[in-house]
Amino acid sequence: TASLAEIDPDVAAAMNGELSRQRDTLEMIASENFVPRAVLQAQGSVLTNKYAEGYPGRRYYGGCEYVDVVEDIARDRAKELFGAEFANVQPHSGASANAAVLMTLMEPGEKLLGLDLAHGGHLTHGMRLNFSGKLYETAAYGVSKEDHRIDMDEVRSIALAEKPKVIVAGWSAYPRTLDFAAFRSIADEVGAHLWVDMAHFAGLVAAGVHPSPVPYADVVSTTVHKTLGGPRSGLILAKKEWAKKLNSAVFPGQQGGPLMHAIAAKAVTFKIAMSDEFVARQQRTLEGARILADRLTGSDVASSGVSVLTGGTDVHLVLVDLRNSELDGQQAEDLLHQVGITVNRNAVPFDPRPPMVTSGLRIGTPALATRGFGAEQFAEVADIIATALAGGADADVSSLRGRVSRLALDFPLYEGLEEWGML
Ligand code: PLP
Repeated sequence: TASLAEIDPDVAAAMNGELSRQRDTLEMIASENFVPRAVLQAQGSVLTNKYAEGYPGRRYYGGCEYVDVVEDIARDRAKELFGAEFANVQPHSGASANAAVLMTLMEPGEKLLGLDLAHGGHLTHGMRLNFSGKLYETAAYGVSKEDHRIDMDEVRSIALAEKPKVIVAGWSAYPRTLDFAAFRSIADEVGAHLWVDMAHFAGLVAAGVHPSPVPYADVVSTTVHKTLGGPRSGLILAKKEWAKKLNSAVFPGQQGGPLMHAIAAKAVTFKIAMSDEFVARQQRTLEGARILADRLTGSDVASSGVSVLTGGTDVHLVLVDLRNSELDGQQAEDLLHQVGITVNRNAVPFDPRPPMVTSGLRIGTPALATRGFGAEQFAEVADIIATALAGGADADVSSLRGRVSRLALDFPLYEGLEEWGML
């Protein structure tokens, strides 16, 4: 019955430090978000104690009557939220969901065609050092040199030449929507399965402010913790015909016991995602990204060699192009860190700088939208970022840090968490 702080003051102190960091700074890593109290409660619950290998009604352990209820609710809500025929809520993460998807759709040695990692793709879409690049043959499409967008004619000609078994559409760093209908028609033309990894934009899809891949793809995978705003974990949706193979690819194919506390938290997340408040939040997320893209294409920023890839955004993030700037990605990330804004450096397509340095920044708005930011606050954040990047080494860091602190104070985070008994 001893508390965390009593049992382990060292870990408790680091956790408290992290809470303060989240409260005092502005989180703009595009893949991060803040979960609500109800999700924290589900994750910090006694469901973590339960083994439940198998699926509801067909478990390999006794005592699953309550966790069966939880998993059934989570699956039903996931299907309803996304209009899918089938859902598997057990993947521990986005990467493990993707491993199960590939295990379902293809055999080792067959070919996977995905977006080049250097152009915004994900490790699990065929990167050389990842299981996806080791087990499968791979081919890649990229973005065009002129407008940095995916050119569907180019995807089609690569697919015709490479004859992949699976085509994956989805990204970790790309600021535009994808043409799912065109991907479907290319997949049909070359006899490939279509897999969409909507990890980044699932929250936008759930809210109906981004096209849905569900009607087009054989299988859709996602994380639950990015725009969707839930626990760190994965989810697979699919057409009914893939149900059996996908279930056995997740368990026993890739995983043992499911994380029932995380599954409870997913169920809560899907319920919240059906609310009007959630839709409004995703709209503010998009609005914030557009405000940021507009400000970062202003003349003061442009004259310092900073621009925005594709000239804008359709989604929750902006990709800043620093190829013509004195700042490299590392320096720009560090500068914004000093100002109190957390972002990540990111290679841009055709990046001349090495991957640990890069010539880009990926800046996202989901976490601040969850914190309550609207157009006025996003305009202020955008101006802080623009002023910092345009100023470079001469930027007035302490005045910018003051502006960040005011915004953070105006939008308190996890108020009362100390009293919730979570720490
Ligand atoms: N797929 C995409 C497109 C992603 O961006 C990510 C996360 O970065 C993943 C999959 C993997 O998710 P996780 O980090 O939960 O394994």
